[in-house]
Amino acid sequence: EPMIIALDGPAGSGKSSTATGLARRLGWLHLDTGAWYRVTALLGGREDVDPADAVALGRLLDRVDRALAASDWPGEEPRRVLVDGEDVTAAIRTPEVSASVSRYSRVPTVRERLNAGFRRLAARTRAPGVVAEGRDITTVTFPDASLRVLLTATPQARARRRAAQLGETDVAGIARDIAERDRRDLAVVDFLTPAAGVVSLDTSELTLGQVIDRIVDLLPV
Ligand code: C5P
Repeated sequence: EPMIIALDGPAGSGKSSTATGLARRLGWLHLDTGAWYRVTALLGGREDVDPADAVALGRLLDRVDRALAASDWPGEEPRRVLVDGEDVTAAIRTPEVSASVSRYSRVPTVRERLNAGFRRLAARTRAPGVVAEGRDITTVTFPDASLRVLLTATPQARARRRAAQLGETDVAGIARDIAERDRRDLAVVDFLTPAAGVVSLDTSELTLGQVIDRIVDLLPV
């Protein structure tokens, strides 16, 4: 059984940089669950899959499942996301995909199928451990993880980071986009309140290195 660090938090909390840095430091597999929700929305959008059409949705999820199962590349950063040989790493980050993910991520079948895929991947990875990041990783996907952390940050810090990441100067606009996506996502999972046993870490005033150090210090030996 590989060790698992479960990381939850909203956009701009530093979650993906933290997960990337931790996976690199530890030589573990980085499992970015949001990327797979994004892949689902990208392929679903291209093929015009109605999330209410169980048959079409099932076929879409079979494809996502195969790509996910083939993504066991411990220590490889930055992560490339491949689907049937196509590199969709950039395509899943467009504003269009960000705006459409929740159409799919709010569907229970999508969450169940993806979560099952994440658990299968973690159970049979070649890596000694997995850093899994998302919204419901500490509560639903891996509630028995070796370490569960919820990253939080003030809305201002989140917008600032996100703007820097996207090379965008309209911080107020970014703040509005974040608030809108939070509103939609929070209807599905509460990723702002730490569940029992989950360590809450406010990253607003911390550097990335400090956040990673704190999490490594919390790892059980
Ligand atoms: O983490 P990221 O912002 O890339 O996630 C994209 C979207 O995927 C989120 O806005 C949310 O709708 C969905 N998601 C989710 N559960 C997760 C990870 C992501 O619903 N564990």
